[in-house]
Amino acid sequence: MSPVRRCSRTACGRPAVATLTYVYADSTAVLGPLATYAEPHCYDLCAEHSERLTAPRGWEVVRLSDPSAPTRPSGDDLEALANAVREAARPQDRGDGPRGGGPRTADPMEVARRGHLRVLRSPDS
Ligand SMILES: [Zn+2]
Repeated sequence: MSPVRRCSRTACGRPAVATLTYVYADSTAVLGPLATYAEPHCYDLCAEHSERLTAPRGWEVVRLSDPSAPTRPSGDDLEALANAVREAARPQDRGDGPRGGGPRTADPMEVARRGHLRVLRSPDS
């Protein structure tokens, strides 16, 4: 009587080939060989789900089962990268606006005021 280990993902009944362990202290998800017994923070995954595995933001995935497999950037990684680029670009856009437009609009106003004062003075003198 050997219980068949199956993928822990909902609606996936494929046999598990790897075990995912969350190491909360290190924010690391370790994907390794199928564990011999189930543990609270372990999730059995089938081949497909272990390959598709993506870690939550700020977490690192360590794959022990298949070191030869190339680690391609996942969608989450690309999205995080895109967000980081956007965050970095935002302050520059805001800074250029006031810096470029401020002095240019202030100087003509100064000149106009001076000219207006001169015009008021000229009738007096
Ligand atoms: Zn699965």
